[in-house]
Amino acid sequence: MQRPVTGNNPMNELTKELSMGGNLSKDTLSKLLGMDDFFPVYQLADRYNERQNHGVVRIRAILEFSNYCRRQCRYCGLNRTNLKLQRYRMDEKEIINTVLIAYRAGYQTIVLQSGEDPAYDKEMVGRIIRGIKDQCPIAITLSLGERSREEYAYWKECGADRYLLKHETSDPDIYRSLHPCGTLENRLQCLQWLKELGYETGSGFMIGLPGQTNDTIANDILTLQRLGCDMAGIGPFIAHPDTPLKDHPDGSTELTKRAVALSRILMPQLNLPATTALGVLDDGEKDDIFSCGANVIMRKVTPGIYRRLYEIYPSNLSLDDDIYKGRRDLEDSIRRLGKQPL
Ligand code: SAH
Repeated sequence: MQRPVTGNNPMNELTKELSMGGNLSKDTLSKLLGMDDFFPVYQLADRYNERQNHGVVRIRAILEFSNYCRRQCRYCGLNRTNLKLQRYRMDEKEIINTVLIAYRAGYQTIVLQSGEDPAYDKEMVGRIIRGIKDQCPIAITLSLGERSREEYAYWKECGADRYLLKHETSDPDIYRSLHPCGTLENRLQCLQWLKELGYETGSGFMIGLPGQTNDTIANDILTLQRLGCDMAGIGPFIAHPDTPLKDHPDGSTELTKRAVALSRILMPQLNLPATTALGVLDDGEKDDIFSCGANVIMRKVTPGIYRRLYEIYPSNLSLDDDIYKGRRDLEDSIRRLGKQPL
């Protein structure tokens, strides 16, 4: 028997709004996030993903080259008030050599990430980018936090291709309560600059932050659209024992998958990674996410001795140093899911 069509069913609202040009309202997104039976939305997201990416999962390497940070983000294990953490910095040569190994192992993109560490100044980051590009044509994604427009412009000239800077939350009050060292306004300004300068930009946000509601998440998704992002990392908050949020419950993996699925439907071309945080909370969920709209996965190539120190949130990731084997294992597990690694 067919179910009666009512105006209150969020799924009907979704279909209606999609047929009217593809934009989704905050109200509809928020209601969809809270639906009892989300399965039909996952199915729709999977169809959009198939149409856009044809079963391809893109693998990116990430190198976490410094865990020094000048900021105090209250959720992050790297925040400068965490005196328990042993800090490290990789030097230029070590960074470039690791990237070359990743390239030879088959990676076509390297994400260079760190805490917000001014020791890597404009020229030094520029030398690293040039040093890499002189030796191999790997795409470079920077994720170094908030810097000046001038620095972003210079690094673009040096050859950087993309920049990842999550807006973290679109709610100014929640943002303020979590970031004693910065404003949402400046973070969004940075994203705007990066776009203007011709970077492919990635933003994103966390699920499960204190004070967050489905309305906040709906707004977060719409913020990605407004920013014109090419990529979005959406992951659950995970409590780190040496941070002020140590007693706050971890974010919901279900809600994370829902936010990813809705982002795929609203922005079919978006690159959506299965965030590491999701895999930390539940390894099965990380696999499942590729049938909910995600099409990207990142693999750490950070040397084992440093990897355990880049502890944004607690995890028991492997410290295996074999970049070639890591890549092959990941390719195999993607194939086992019926997808094609790239
Ligand atoms: N310094 C860079 C990189 C930040 S770390 C920057 O400012 O952009 C990368 C991401 O980890 C952050 O953007 C944040 O979304 C996520 N993160 C930090 N702490 C977390 C936690 N406790 N749980 C889940 N994700 C976290």
